[in-house]
Amino acid sequence: MLRQVAEGVLTHESEFCQSNAVVVHGRAGVLIIDPGVQGHEMAALANDLRELGRPVVAGFSTHPHWDHLLWHTGLGAAPRYGTARCAAAVRDELSAAGWQARIAEWIPPEIAEQISWDLFGLITGLPAEMAQIPWDGPHARIVEHQAHAPGHAALLIEERGVLVAGDMLSDVLIPMLDLDDTADPIEDYLAALRLLEGVAGDVDVLVPGHGSVGGADQVRARIDQDRAYVHALRDAGVPGDPRLGPSAYGKDFLPGVHARQLQQLAQRSERDGTPG
Ligand SMILES: [Zn+2]
Repeated sequence: MLRQVAEGVLTHESEFCQSNAVVVHGRAGVLIIDPGVQGHEMAALANDLRELGRPVVAGFSTHPHWDHLLWHTGLGAAPRYGTARCAAAVRDELSAAGWQARIAEWIPPEIAEQISWDLFGLITGLPAEMAQIPWDGPHARIVEHQAHAPGHAALLIEERGVLVAGDMLSDVLIPMLDLDDTADPIEDYLAALRLLEGVAGDVDVLVPGHGSVGGADQVRARIDQDRAYVHALRDAGVPGDPRLGPSAYGKDFLPGVHARQLQQLAQRSERDGTPG
């Protein structure tokens, strides 16, 4: 079920929303980034790793959204890292009464019933000054920014030329802005794209959180495409974005996401008294 995308880097694409789990081989075992969504898929991943004799020695969640916070007992008890902000956001969410029911509302029931809730969101925050994942394997540089979700981070596996982008640079999903936690979601998103553009020269393989794995040419193409969408959103223009097209992967839900983003941004600018 695992597909090699670069030397020592493998991915598994979920049936749910084309979510990509990423496995990076290190000396004593593997690093798993965003391990997956469906319980049976994570169980199969755990089996594959057991057969390969490769224990999980570290995990990483790119951001504090439910589909990136899951885990399976078969993957073991390795530390699961995230940025300090990611961990704090999860901690806040899980400290409120009724958190499980509140999160489950977002999740298709057939997936929710497979979730090991006791393992949900057990994220160890890495101090902001820590530039890479603390593990015995290829350097995984943390590229943190404030787009999409608090403490969102991409990982750049420099020696392998792989950028694990989290929920950015997808060929199927439009940029989804963090409209709750930041003062200027448009500028934060554009700043994140500039940050990713700054490392683009080192990337041969791009793995988005959802969608297809791309080559070097896809990095800049997707940055440009995301930036054009965010500009259109900012200017309340009509995005000519193929991901919103009538035959696109997200044709049934992305137009609604787009309309809500437009509406919320308009409400914010009205409230703040800034011109639309
Ligand atoms: Zn996601």
